[in-house]
Amino acid sequence: MFELNDDWDLEPKSRVCLLEDYAGSEVRWCPGCGDHAVLSAVQRLARDKQLAPEKTVVVSGIGCSSRFPHYMSTYGFHGLHGRALPVACGIRSRRPDLDIFVVTGDGDCCAIGTAHWIHAIRYNMDLTILLLDNNIYGLTKNQTSPTTPFGWRSQTHPRGSFFASLNPIAVTLGIQNASFVAQTIDWCPPHLYATIRAAHEHKGASFVRIFQRCPHFTEDVFAQAREDPGRVLLMTHAQGIPLDAAVLKMFPNRAGHDPSNLAEARELACREDVCTIGLFYRNPGGSRYDEVTAQGLGKTPGEKLAAIEMALDGFMV
Ligand code: SF4
Repeated sequence: MFELNDDWDLEPKSRVCLLEDYAGSEVRWCPGCGDHAVLSAVQRLARDKQLAPEKTVVVSGIGCSSRFPHYMSTYGFHGLHGRALPVACGIRSRRPDLDIFVVTGDGDCCAIGTAHWIHAIRYNMDLTILLLDNNIYGLTKNQTSPTTPFGWRSQTHPRGSFFASLNPIAVTLGIQNASFVAQTIDWCPPHLYATIRAAHEHKGASFVRIFQRCPHFTEDVFAQAREDPGRVLLMTHAQGIPLDAAVLKMFPNRAGHDPSNLAEARELACREDVCTIGLFYRNPGGSRYDEVTAQGLGKTPGEKLAAIEMALDGFMV
């Protein structure tokens, strides 16, 4: 249930938002699609944190998961393919007061949006970035994406993908100024929720890759990890994702990992024998570009004009 700001706060609340207050239009993802689980987790987080719908915005690109803003009763921007992150950075640069979620997919983020992904991580603006990775282009009906496993057959590669798949966590950990990098699975709602919540609470660009089931086109791709919890490696640490005992019990295969240890995070990210979940890396001290872009907000039109004229004077010869 939603949280009181203070344990003994008995003041009647002027407004309480329930789960249904965050539900947007009718959801049209396929039955069994992992996107449903992510939507539920985000709506639950919004309810628990009592995020004001008019102060929350969900930005997406193009793809199945990018229909997300339609299903939230908040502000939303369903943008161009691969362009969710620059739109979100633009919003953040002018609106430090908003809660901003970015929902992107493996095709959207890791192919056409790659340059924006790299620089958004480096800019480290305060955004909660959710990469819903189903290892395929689903909306355009089964084409190889950058994260499709080697040898996987699709419409574009009927004899199997020729390439080693791209590892979004390893890439993100290689970007200077990355400040929060985590991985979770859609089929464990408590871990999914706890990870998104920790990402939302982090100040900076929080990047969460979510292994997302697509029963339509990549039904078997996560089957081993789904059916055998021993194939999942759960990273645990006091500074990691907070989990209760019941969740810990679900995953017998665990590794203590200090999320301030970048070298170890990179090693863990590259393991291919297990599906590693938890917090790889967190650096709360990274510089944030939104702290720079927020300077000057609130100036009067006259002050802005004077500032522009002063800047233009710098080009006088
Ligand atoms: Fe989900 Fe796959 Fe259906 Fe798209 S095609 S809605 S990713 S199950």
